[in-house]
Amino acid sequence: MSFDHLQYPIKTLPNGDRLNLNAYRLTGSAPGPHVYIQASVHGAEVQGNGVVYHLLDFFSKNEFRGSLTIIPTANPMSINTKAGTFTQGRFNATSGNNWNRNYQNLEEYPEIFSPKAWLESLNLAEETKGSIRKKFKHYLGESLKKLRAQKSEYAISDDVKLNLTLQHLASSADIVLDLHTGPKACRYLYAGEFEKEKVVDLPFPFTIIIPNEFAGAMDEATFMPWVILSRNLKAMNLENLDAKSFEAYTVELGSEESLNMNEALRDAERILSFLSKRGVLANDFHPTSSFEPQRAGFLKDYKTYFAPIGGLYEFTLKPGDHALKGQGLCKFLNFAPLEGAKELGGILEQCLGEIKLLEEAHIINHSPSAVVSEGQALYQVLEKTWSLK
Ligand SMILES: [Zn+2]
Repeated sequence: MSFDHLQYPIKTLPNGDRLNLNAYRLTGSAPGPHVYIQASVHGAEVQGNGVVYHLLDFFSKNEFRGSLTIIPTANPMSINTKAGTFTQGRFNATSGNNWNRNYQNLEEYPEIFSPKAWLESLNLAEETKGSIRKKFKHYLGESLKKLRAQKSEYAISDDVKLNLTLQHLASSADIVLDLHTGPKACRYLYAGEFEKEKVVDLPFPFTIIIPNEFAGAMDEATFMPWVILSRNLKAMNLENLDAKSFEAYTVELGSEESLNMNEALRDAERILSFLSKRGVLANDFHPTSSFEPQRAGFLKDYKTYFAPIGGLYEFTLKPGDHALKGQGLCKFLNFAPLEGAKELGGILEQCLGEIKLLEEAHIINHSPSAVVSEGQALYQVLEKTWSLK
């Protein structure tokens, strides 16, 4: 195994100091897939860094095929920005942008990236699945380089620079895992519709199936070029050249602002079990115990309950719970009914309320704070799920 540390300058600060991205490249003893794993693009979502530690430990001691690019703390701006005791994680404190929504949609730049024109430029009679794959990765990398040059003419925002740098580093991958967490959450995945048959190999208890569309996130930014390549090969009756083996997932590892190294070991086992099925591990992998059942649902059935009233909330149902229609979801306390009151009798109890589940659902996450304004997200739940395994 060979190991390299690579560093990419990501931002100069007004005092002249510099923030860098630190990437680790591991190369195995035999050819195999290239796996790209990043953690903490949302700076408060730190559990993935513990997982990365255990993966590095595993690969330092076990033979593997192919190579890995691993980037812990993949957003130095975000993880280093504290607001009181909390980490300013999900949004750029300056621009307000979500750090996982500034990846670039190459499809919007047909003069730079056109899989159809690219395919037509090849001598297709001489190509194989393997050669198309290798050349397409190169084309993808070159397209992202050109896009960056174009976008840098008037300099580039820090949001786009970070996301484009990560997107470029992932362009040579066959498998992309973007490690996040929810606010207060269980473990779950986002998987593209095109990979919904494959996601069963990545043993997390819940999967949300998202459309094959670009909406700004890393998984979509990395899988859409391959989806588009597939569509073009199909339109040209060249499905025999379609390797269909690219996969990208957003992996949600519990709650933000929290690190648990024992749970990270279990999370690493889930990922190693998956990589074993993709031929990365040289030997059989045996997790310490079997994984829990897996369920999936569509993004359209991933429902957000917003707070109908501002107040202080007690979250009755917990992430991972399964609950039925009509069951109590959470309670709230709001003293507004006492305004102008001359007595408490018959009024005080109006300060308490309860929100009930509208449909049977699995609870995926809830607000990390009991203090919630009207209209803020309280809960996200997955309805109409089915069993994957
Ligand atoms: Zn996140």
